[in-house]
Amino acid sequence: MYILLMGPPGAGKGTQAAKLVDRFSIPHISTGDIFRAAVKEGTELGRQAKKFMDSGQLVPDSVTIGIVKERLAKSDCQSGFILDGFPRTLEQATALDATLGELGVKLDRVVNITATDNELVRRITGRRICKGCSATYHVTLNSPTVSGKCDKCGGELFQRADDQEETVIKRLNVYQVQTEPLIGYYRSKGLYAEIDGLQSIDKVLEKVIDSLRGDRT
Ligand code: ADP
Ligand code: ADP
Ligand code: ZN
Repeated sequence: MYILLMGPPGAGKGTQAAKLVDRFSIPHISTGDIFRAAVKEGTELGRQAKKFMDSGQLVPDSVTIGIVKERLAKSDCQSGFILDGFPRTLEQATALDATLGELGVKLDRVVNITATDNELVRRITGRRICKGCSATYHVTLNSPTVSGKCDKCGGELFQRADDQEETVIKRLNVYQVQTEPLIGYYRSKGLYAEIDGLQSIDKVLEKVIDSLRGDRT
């Protein structure tokens, strides 16, 4: 199953992707996670990406497209993937088509999870990530059993540097201008499904799985 998860920052893409990994045993490929790992390791890629991430801008296509191309060529992508947070520009979308063509693979579904701006700000500013395993929580909406500790690995939870309210507003604007046009792009290919993200995590998962079975919402 080749799935693309779209949606504004904070809609719940990463949360749903983690559940889909358990369900379908295919890799979760998040460009945000790849960039954050590179920043943490202090690589050249991390150095390039950091200034864009910190200011809520997109990392340039010339950097991002190559990273994804390399990742999709790995053998664990042969039976499918969940692509989360890529593509975010039309240029990335056409590059993805070319890469998938070279690999002889076709997307099964593009799922867009939506939410209101108010809810996105609430979700992002309360988001907490595990240092150990990158599991995602929310201080009130999806809190761990023990405050500040990951349920899965006991790791310490932290807040992403770019999850401050000022940066979030910028990211929502960048999403509207640069990424929203992809809706028309995938709709015209007959791949597009839209899910109302203003429902519980389990309900959204149910709807995502329905959409993968073929229902267009
Ligand atoms: P994205 O990957 O789209 O940026 P995340 O999956 O990281 O979004 O979710 C953003 C925040 O919202 C996290 O703190 C997460 O725990 C919380 N969250 C995700 N889905 C829901 C939901 N359906 N209801 C309430 N909170 C949610
Ligand atoms: P969220 O789901 O909360 O928007 P991500 O983890 O997907 O956050 O992305 C964090 C940051 O990483 C983005 O604000 C951007 O700077 C960079 N980034 C991630 N994916 C891409 C992409 N496909 N193109 C350009 N920049 C990206
Ligand atoms: Zn953890």
